[in-house]
Amino acid sequence: RVGSNRQQNRQTETTESLSAEAQHADGAWKFTNTADSDPAMRANLEWAKAIAERIPTSKLGVKTAAEAEITDHAELDKFIQKIKLGARAWAAKPAAERADILHKVGVEITRRRADLIEVAGAELGKGLDQADVEVSEAADFAHYYAQQALELEKVNGAEFSPVDVTLVTPPWNFPLAIPAGGVLAALAAGSGAILKPASVSKRCGAIIAECLWAAGVPADVFGLVNVGEKELGKELVTDKRIGRVVLTGGAETAELFRSWDPTLKLMAETSGKNSIIVTPSADLDLAVKDIVNSAFGHAGQKCSACSYAILVGSAGFSKRVRNQIVDAVKSLNIGWADDLSVQMGPLSVEPGEKLMRGLTKLEPGQRWVVEPKQLDETGRLWSPGVRAGVEVGSEYHMTEYFGPLLGIMRVDTLEEAIMAQNLTHYGLTAGLHSLDAEEINLWLNNVEAGNVYVNRGITGAIVQRQPFGGWKRSVVGEGAKAGGPNYLFGFGEFTATELKP
Ligand code: GLU
Repeated sequence: RVGSNRQQNRQTETTESLSAEAQHADGAWKFTNTADSDPAMRANLEWAKAIAERIPTSKLGVKTAAEAEITDHAELDKFIQKIKLGARAWAAKPAAERADILHKVGVEITRRRADLIEVAGAELGKGLDQADVEVSEAADFAHYYAQQALELEKVNGAEFSPVDVTLVTPPWNFPLAIPAGGVLAALAAGSGAILKPASVSKRCGAIIAECLWAAGVPADVFGLVNVGEKELGKELVTDKRIGRVVLTGGAETAELFRSWDPTLKLMAETSGKNSIIVTPSADLDLAVKDIVNSAFGHAGQKCSACSYAILVGSAGFSKRVRNQIVDAVKSLNIGWADDLSVQMGPLSVEPGEKLMRGLTKLEPGQRWVVEPKQLDETGRLWSPGVRAGVEVGSEYHMTEYFGPLLGIMRVDTLEEAIMAQNLTHYGLTAGLHSLDAEEINLWLNNVEAGNVYVNRGITGAIVQRQPFGGWKRSVVGEGAKAGGPNYLFGFGEFTATELKP
């Protein structure tokens, strides 16, 4: 056992693990094999449209995500009021009853695994394997928060008072698990919930909503809303009936919400700039695999992704690791993510100005060891980029690009590596590859990140085992972690009790 007291409030994982459900071998995929259609057509969303047509056949009445769009003030007001009133009956239910419904949501999500993966692939180009893991995570959230609902009741009895309405505003990069997680936590705590999906992942939001309603969550306790226009978005976020806003997204979005209302009760997990340190004692095959997977899984579009590797030691050691990384990256199978052999799929949205800069510009002293290339006319399919010569304090070191980019930094000592790793404002995930107990201890006692991993990749936190959330500017609000034991406390208030002598 390594670590110290400082570690006790966060998760350290030293083994490779995947939930049993994240297997690909059940043969149950309902995927259209799209080998016969070209990428440009898929990017035009022909495939997406064909799949989307299935959604209106649902018994549940979410015809299309667009139909849930609210466009005027009065309608939005009525919608929030419906949840505000419905939530009271939900909170009054015994926790066991709520937990029972949440377990059913988990079962429903698992039952619709293929549909969920299909929609995430169609809407955002999310790879089959990546979406599959997300479905497992969404179901895990349901079962875990159901248990936590019972704990909350047991420990705190009537002293915990959930807010009536929680607003959940998830990002598009985990379009299934993150919306499901936020909503399920709110419901477990006894709060009503409103889900406003990211504007590019409305269909994913709609199918998660279907799962919730199908499992028995009443429509006046949980509601799905899309507000197209900015003013209404602001109105929704700042409405006084909304007791909590759960945000996962960029730090800028958290700032925007705060600028709308500085008193907002915001629970936010925001950006990261994450790295993996490799020391000469490391198992290099494992380190390289973990760096490459953490950097390029889902084309780097994860808050948790590895953005740079910090290689400790001589120039010779650094060169050896770098060459291995380059070989591994060059062997990645890249393509539209409709086939399990694809290891890196497309970007979910075309690169914005910042990512484009990362994909095309080097700073003085840097060079491409693998140069990223745009692979088709859609603008969304790119090959990965690896740059060497990243210096401490450079623009690359300080910027979250959110795309298929990896930087390589070399330093002389582990102490320097830790300083570099801690230098950014963010502190979401961090990794170390080392087989030396002293090095591991030193690192664990000094690394500043919410999720820290030894000899493992730094993406793919697991509900309950590795609750997910950051330190420093990667978190806004109380900072309890999603998928962890304290998360539900954030969705309400504790009534003060008299202290007895
Ligand atoms: N929970 C995810 C992971 O551990 C990251 C979620 C995110 O990108 O916001 O990889």
